[in-house]
Amino acid sequence: MTRDRLTVVVAAYNEADALPLLQPRIAAVLDALVRDAGIDGRVLYVDDGSCDGTWALLEAMVAADPRVGAMRLSRNFGKELALTAGLDHVDAGAALILDADGQDPPELIPQFVAKWREGYDDVHGTRMEREGEGWLKRSTAHAFYRVIGRLSKTPIPADTGDFRLLSERSLAALRQLRERHRFMKGLFGWVGYRHVAIPYHREPRVAGASKFNLWKLWNFALEGITSFSTAPLRLATYLGLATATVAFAYALWVIAKALLWGDPVAGWPTMMAVILFLGGVQLIALGLIGEYLGRLYDESKQRPLYLVDSRLPAAGVCSTPSPAAGDGHAQRKAAARSESA
Ligand code: UDP
Ligand code: MG
Repeated sequence: MTRDRLTVVVAAYNEADALPLLQPRIAAVLDALVRDAGIDGRVLYVDDGSCDGTWALLEAMVAADPRVGAMRLSRNFGKELALTAGLDHVDAGAALILDADGQDPPELIPQFVAKWREGYDDVHGTRMEREGEGWLKRSTAHAFYRVIGRLSKTPIPADTGDFRLLSERSLAALRQLRERHRFMKGLFGWVGYRHVAIPYHREPRVAGASKFNLWKLWNFALEGITSFSTAPLRLATYLGLATATVAFAYALWVIAKALLWGDPVAGWPTMMAVILFLGGVQLIALGLIGEYLGRLYDESKQRPLYLVDSRLPAAGVCSTPSPAAGDGHAQRKAAARSESA
């Protein structure tokens, strides 16, 4: 176990405006860490296929500071996979995940480190309030954490994002979870070990705009629920049972009516209502099954999670990915190819 190495992992997608503001703050914190706690701090930026000047900026940062490393993915894979790539390439000590936009203040890192030193494996920041975010985002986020908390058997702390420190053994555990649909908050919760929350105020973005619109967030929520709960499938069963019960009672009533009063044909409106209702219920159930089936299909293809385009410095901060990090032969070969190029 390495107790004196900490790598700050930052996923960045089109963050050319924010990074120049963030890096000096991180550098100052790393200076303080080595001075006060004897911790060898590094930064690893993951460029998630940005199309602005992010990579050029990162190259300059790597050249300017030996503690900075950067890697670039072959295209935009999304934040969860960019983080996975970064965490896979931390080869010793603990990792701390930070957003590139300054919403998670780097100045809090020493508090996280203190908890890590006390022996915690997963130190996560819990948001007391979210500044600079609209009521719609805040209320939907609030509702989402409550729903997933109820549905999932895995403990997922509420109002907790990706701002967290993971010890070496937590990282090793996380690397064993190679699913394609990665809901990171759930994966962190699944790992368990000793965890503790640090309350903090989430600041507004320092620059640029959020990469997540409401539609993306909705899909993210679906991802979370389907990855960590099969409750919706059970819901389909109950919906079917309830419908069947009502239908049975209604059928008895129709038969009784015909026998007692000789009232043969129920009207067209009732028939349409029943057909449409049953059709709707069946489609909902099919859709629910489809959500899971589609994910199963994605998993069964066994593609690598991400591809690395290039890494800086060529040897150094993030020299070798740990053996557990690979997703099989194909990815290692592809990575080797892109690096030797
Ligand atoms: N991000 C990423 N890939 C993406 C989208 C976002 O790596 O496809 C990064 C982004 O650069 C930032 C973090 O994920 O560091 C959080 O994104 P953002 O601030 O847009 O999300 P929000 O804080 O609004 O939820
Ligand atoms: Mg943000």
